[in-house]
Amino acid sequence: MADCIFCMIAEGKIPSSKIYESDTVYAFLDLNPVHKGHTLIIPKKHAKDLLRLSPELGCDLVLAMQKVGRAVMEATGADGFNVIQNNGHAAGQEVEHVHWHIIPRFDGDGLKFWAQTKYESMEAMNAMAEQIRAKIV
Ligand code: AMP
Ligand code: ZN
Repeated sequence: MADCIFCMIAEGKIPSSKIYESDTVYAFLDLNPVHKGHTLIIPKKHAKDLLRLSPELGCDLVLAMQKVGRAVMEATGADGFNVIQNNGHAAGQEVEHVHWHIIPRFDGDGLKFWAQTKYESMEAMNAMAEQIRAKIV
């Protein structure tokens, strides 16, 4: 898609630090890493977010996450890694071309992505589950 920075990266029109490429997937280092080695994985074909991604690409993307995750861990000496994927502005999506963050993690690095909240009761939790189940299509 014209004017999409990640399409331009996948097409080689702007430079990136390439990590991995297949017919359908491209992976490159994030310019602003949480930790060094932080990598982004994108489908080469433009889709804005996860809900607009063709299901056929799912296997290719998961395979890339496994390959890249393992390589990032071995190269950085990380103890683990996070896979993070933001959908929509409210979720922190800045680039509107779907992408997965592979973030190497180190024991005791202290990073926390999740705020804590609690359900008021089991009934409230079950009611939430029922509301979401009703929207599954
Ligand atoms: P998100 O907030 O999930 O949309 O993440 C977008 C990510 O893309 C950010 O972590 C940016 O640092 C990264 N980013 C933006 N432009 C580039 C670029 N040209 N090369 C590498 N990473 C980029
Ligand atoms: Zn794009």
